[in-house]
Amino acid sequence: MSSIDSAAPPIVTIVGERIALGPLDHTLVPLMQRWHNDLAVVAALGLPPRPLTLERMAARHDALAAAEDEARFAVYTWADRRPIGLATLPAIDFRHGTARYVLFIGKRDCRGKGYGTETTRLMLEYAADWQGKHVVAVGRWFPSSKTCGVCGHAHAGLTLKDRVWTCPACGATHDQDAKAARTLLAEGTRLFALHKPGATGSGFAGTPRAGILTATIVAAGSPET
Ligand SMILES: [Zn+2]
Repeated sequence: MSSIDSAAPPIVTIVGERIALGPLDHTLVPLMQRWHNDLAVVAALGLPPRPLTLERMAARHDALAAAEDEARFAVYTWADRRPIGLATLPAIDFRHGTARYVLFIGKRDCRGKGYGTETTRLMLEYAADWQGKHVVAVGRWFPSSKTCGVCGHAHAGLTLKDRVWTCPACGATHDQDAKAARTLLAEGTRLFALHKPGATGSGFAGTPRAGILTATIVAAGSPET
C-alpha cells in the first residue's frame, strides 16, 4: 500500500494499546505547521513565540528528517489512525547510548487523556530495545525521593521544594533529584532481578546491561499529556 495515496492508512512502526507511532513524513507538514502555531505548544517546546509559515515548517522538517542522529515519530490514535502529535529522540549519542526526548500532543482535545503517557512508555521501550537495555516500571507511588539511601528512613514530611534535605533519622544530607535517580535505579534493579530470565510470565527477557537511558522530557499541555 502506498503512503502517497492519501486515502491509505498511515504506515505505523510501533503499535501500543491506544497509540501507534509511525514515520513523520512530508504529508504531515501542514498539520505540524498548525500545531507549531499554537503558542502554548511553542512555549512548552522553548521555541520563540512567532508565527511559523508553511515554507519554514517544511524547511525545518526537511532538515530534521535528514538528520542521522534523530528518530522522529508521528503519534496516532490507533483506533482511528488520527495523527495527534509527535515524539522525537533528537541528538542521539550512539556512543554513550543517550538521547533527549521531546513529545508534544498537538491536538488540544487529545491532551490529558493518557496518550502522552503511553507514547512515552512506547518510546522508552523502543530506545531501550535499540540499546539492548530494559525498561522496568517502578510504581508511581514509590517514594523515590523520600527514602533515605543511607538508613532507609522514609521522610514523609518532604516536599518538592526541599531540593536538598537532611534525614531526620541518621543525619545524612541528600540532593533530592540525584537521590531519586539512585533510589529508582536500585528499585528497578531489584524488580528486574525478581523477574530475571526464566521466570514465567515476567515480561522480561535477556540479561541486564550496564547503562542508563537519559531523557529530557518536554511535554506540552497538562502534565498528563
Ligand atoms: Zn537516613
